Amino acid sequence: MRSIAQKLLGSIGVPALLIALGAVGVFALRARSAAEAAAVQEAEQVADLLSATFQAATLGVHLGPDEAHPAVSPALRASAALKGVHVVRVLGPDGQVVWSSTPADVGGRSHLDRGEGEQRVQLREGKVLLARSLGGGDCNSCHFGVAGQLQLAVDSPRSPGEVASGTQAAVAGVVLIAGALALATTISLRQLITRPLRRLAHSMAQAEAGDLGVRAEVHGEDEIAQLAKSFNHMLETAARLESEGLDARGGLARARAQLSLQGELERANTELSHRLTALSLLYHVSRSLNATLELPELLGRISTLVTERLRIDYFSVLLVSAEGRLEEAASVPPRISGTRGSFRLGEGAAGRAAESLLPVYLPDLSGAQDARPLGPTTGSLLSLPVVHQGRLLGVLNLQRSGTEAFAAEEVELLAAVADQAAMAIQNARLHAETVALSITDALTGLANRRHLFRQLEQEVARAARFHTQVAVVMMDLDHFKDLNDAAGHVAGDSVLRQVAEVLKGQVRRVDVVARYGGEEFCLVLPQVTKADAMEVAEKLRRSIAEQPVHGVPAGRVTASAGVAHLPTDATTLEGLLEAADAALYASKHRGRNQITAFAPDLDKAPGEVPVRA
Ligand code: GH3
Ligand code: MG
Ligand code: MG
Repeated sequence: MRSIAQKLLGSIGVPALLIALGAVGVFALRARSAAEAAAVQEAEQVADLLSATFQAATLGVHLGPDEAHPAVSPALRASAALKGVHVVRVLGPDGQVVWSSTPADVGGRSHLDRGEGEQRVQLREGKVLLARSLGGGDCNSCHFGVAGQLQLAVDSPRSPGEVASGTQAAVAGVVLIAGALALATTISLRQLITRPLRRLAHSMAQAEAGDLGVRAEVHGEDEIAQLAKSFNHMLETAARLESEGLDARGGLARARAQLSLQGELERANTELSHRLTALSLLYHVSRSLNATLELPELLGRISTLVTERLRIDYFSVLLVSAEGRLEEAASVPPRISGTRGSFRLGEGAAGRAAESLLPVYLPDLSGAQDARPLGPTTGSLLSLPVVHQGRLLGVLNLQRSGTEAFAAEEVELLAAVADQAAMAIQNARLHAETVALSITDALTGLANRRHLFRQLEQEVARAARFHTQVAVVMMDLDHFKDLNDAAGHVAGDSVLRQVAEVLKGQVRRVDVVARYGGEEFCLVLPQVTKADAMEVAEKLRRSIAEQPVHGVPAGRVTASAGVAHLPTDATTLEGLLEAADAALYASKHRGRNQITAFAPDLDKAPGEVPVRA
């Protein structure tokens, strides 16, 4: 590879050298021509001089040939003595040498060609050979026609040899100068161009290898310096772009990492969301179910929560009955007509769940054997046992219209809901039992005195508000003290229970039968007239009197009763009870085993007052 300096030298130096050599050549040729012209001129001047001498010698003087010729001899000798004049020769008309600067030639023949014209000039071997005709004028007196010929051989003062040596010197000078110029140019080019360019190329190679921190040296303000500056600027830009690229790649990597994290986060969020939904459902189920202790309301809430929050198409709650069967207690949508579902253990999906105490999932009812769904006969069915402390309370039946509609996590969640429901149902039952105990007389199972008063308050308030009526029957067993004395208290207790059963069997559901005290009973009969109340009281009295009683000697027991009516006999609870009590007192007074309607003027025997427990 040739360097720029070499190329410059090749492209400029060689043509310059050739041009210089050409110029030297032209100069040499011109010098040679000038030398030749000068030599010819010199020869002609000598010839003119000698011709004039011949003319002068004959001018006005009639000399004979023998006198005329010698007269010019001195001039001929003087001419021959001139520097540069080699040969001076005079030829006669016959071509014989009559005079010569070289005496030996006289009498000989000239080797020079005699010219046809007056004068002939030849250049030969660095000499000018001149031949000129002599004669004319006075010469014609002796010579007729051509008189003779003068021949000269004159050296050129600057002969071709000198010109050649001058040319060689010029060529050598040109070559030397060209060499010196080439050397100087080479050094200058190396200093000014080659080295800076090599340094720049080296920097570029480093940059190309990836070192963007390299910078080219900048010296001065020339084009290479500008190039180096531009290169440095380009490198700075490239470094910045690289840095930005790295940042971008770093950003990209971070973005990818963030995307990955985001994906995980979304998965975690989804998982969390599902768990939150599950927890939320459980929380609401727990809160809602614990907000009530009434079993029907509780079952309604379970149904609503499950169907609304878990998009269940059909839902039912089955509870274990006293007989050990699964009885449908609630459903969504509610059962308006038709018999409620009832299963024995092991029967249908619900029965199998109840028997195994494990969930039974039928993803496709259409192909299932012995599914016994209470809802639609297609889709999916999930039966979950409701178990509290190992005891089966019931079964939750959930149905969706689609097949395989329950995911494993949902089954798990719903099992947790069933556990919550079990606890709530158990609490409701305990509460119901507690409430029942709190309002029930332990011996007879009738409403106790507290419950009686609460019910009576409500009925009196309702009667007052709605202008309705309510009757109270106060009843006391006759001579019970005697019975106790005769048969013992245990037998007396038994009699009390038997009488209570009779009373419970004779009243409406809306009526309240309470044990008022010891062997006294009180009945509240809402929405009855006083006459109807009397009928009820009489019916009760008769039933007691006719009912065989075990464990007592007489095998029978009687009771007396008093009937009071609101608003006929009183307008307040206390007034009503007092009136009934007064009527009862009257019955005792009148002989017992009878009923008496309250009247303001009831007669009663002094000192006979019914005993209250
Ligand atoms: P009368 O016809 O006037 O009502 O006569 P009586 O004996 O029933 O008189 P009274 O009502 O005064 O007596 C109530 C008796 O009932 C007194 C008590 O021994 C008895 N007694 C009260 N509570 C109980 C109870 O829980 N069990 C039993 N075995 N006896 C009771
Ligand atoms: Mg009594
Ligand atoms: Mg009594």
